Amino acid sequence: MASKFILGKVSETNLRGVRPELVAVVRRAIELTSVDFRVIEGVRSEERQRQLVRNGASQTLNSRHITGHAVDCAPLVNSAIPWNDQSKFKAVSDAMFQAAKELGVRIRWGGDWNENGRSNDEKFYDGPHFELRRQEYP
Ligand SMILES: [Zn+2]
Repeated sequence: MASKFILGKVSETNLRGVRPELVAVVRRAIELTSVDFRVIEGVRSEERQRQLVRNGASQTLNSRHITGHAVDCAPLVNSAIPWNDQSKFKAVSDAMFQAAKELGVRIRWGGDWNENGRSNDEKFYDGPHFELRRQEYP
């Protein structure tokens, strides 16, 4: 069966340099997802990371983006990112976790940092963020 969505040019460009295990998860997730999504960021320079921390958009200089262990996948609805609708981010995460399970890759989601299956107890909800777990991928 043909999937509903495909990765666009921006997503493909942003996947450059990302760890192959995580790229594979994203590629499978776009086939599974019920909501379209775009890879809005992959590998990040240390300078950009410092800037994000200064702006309050990130809380760590030890970001998994710098090493290619993280991607930001944002839902797309009518070509726009519904930043205030967490249910759409959850839908992308469902596809990402399903894909990761199929491929035997262990990931962690910025909407559930403590991995308890809930987003409403997160101090720093980061809905588009997915990373390879440090435990399995140091
Ligand atoms: Zn991120």
